[in-house]
Amino acid sequence: MKVLSRLIFASLICPLSISLCGCAQDQSTKTTRLLMGTFVSIEAFDPDLSKKDLADKVEMAFGEMAHIESLMSPVRSESDVYRINRSARTRRIPVEPYTAEVLKKALEIYSVSDGAFDVTIGPMVDLWKTSGKRGRLAKSSVIEKSLKGVGSDGFMLEQDDSIVLLRRRDLEIDLGGLAKGFAVDKAAGFLKEEGIKSALIDAGGDIRCIGKNKKGEPWSVGVRDPQDRTQVLAVLSLQDESVATSGDYERYFTIDGKVYSHIIDPRSGRPVDNNVKSSTIVAKDCMTADGLATATFVLGPEKGIKLIESMDGVECLMVVEDGDEMRSICSSGFASKLNR
Ligand code: AMP
Ligand code: MG
Repeated sequence: MKVLSRLIFASLICPLSISLCGCAQDQSTKTTRLLMGTFVSIEAFDPDLSKKDLADKVEMAFGEMAHIESLMSPVRSESDVYRINRSARTRRIPVEPYTAEVLKKALEIYSVSDGAFDVTIGPMVDLWKTSGKRGRLAKSSVIEKSLKGVGSDGFMLEQDDSIVLLRRRDLEIDLGGLAKGFAVDKAAGFLKEEGIKSALIDAGGDIRCIGKNKKGEPWSVGVRDPQDRTQVLAVLSLQDESVATSGDYERYFTIDGKVYSHIIDPRSGRPVDNNVKSSTIVAKDCMTADGLATATFVLGPEKGIKLIESMDGVECLMVVEDGDEMRSICSSGFASKLNR
């Protein structure tokens, strides 16, 4: 585990707009849509395609993401997640291959994070949302009761992953920690299949880059400073890689002046309260980055960085509050991802 002083990063602070590539030239396009509760933008470049053809392909990539939203939304009655969560009579729920893929990843990260990442956290997420709206902390007795329904040992995939078998009836799945990253991966996969060699897909900070930017350089991606969102803490240089950040600064609620995270610690049933301000993961695919960002946010710096060091092809940068100071802590290979 490396502790990087603020001084090292000071030289890297620059406006985000500088780190992102502009799109004035003809064969490039940048489009933004509201999807999965966030702004999703796709920037693509292909000198062999007309701007119209490129825009059409980007539109189809958005269509792929919208399809994933329709499968994984907890509120749409036709979604796989909705059917899992509302299944009163049956324990065997057929799901689409995409949903199965995300659930498999969820079980994998549940296992490596020792339960810190747990998609059966649904009841607790609902409980704390209500609590935030009412401006009152949930009672311990209610937390304990809701926690009984939490634990990813409560489901498994069977029959070539086409069926979710519920081992507990009260299970409530929440794929909020993975679905965006997965949708970014599928959009990227679609564009690659269509022969696009240069693109950047950004779903509210869950980012995947294809190839190099239109200048023929690796993509520069700014990691925002959680203390001051107008500033960039680090600039990454990425090519065919993904990055995702979990933080307590964008989605949170406040009770009696105290800020509570939207990420729940499944061990306590309470919002994570471990001084981590943000955790950024660089990985090959965006679903892994998304899930591990949430997992390491829950685990905290010591266990979180240890987990990342034990895995191949992933790096982590955490910002941790230490009294009046902010410390940046990163995995041993993170520096190799920085734009120098
Ligand atoms: P992210 O913003 O990617 O860190 O994902 C946070 C979202 O994941 C929350 O809004 C919840 O929907 C869900 N979530 C919250 N806590 C957990 C957890 N411990 N494990 C898995 N998913 C979680
Ligand atoms: Mg996440």
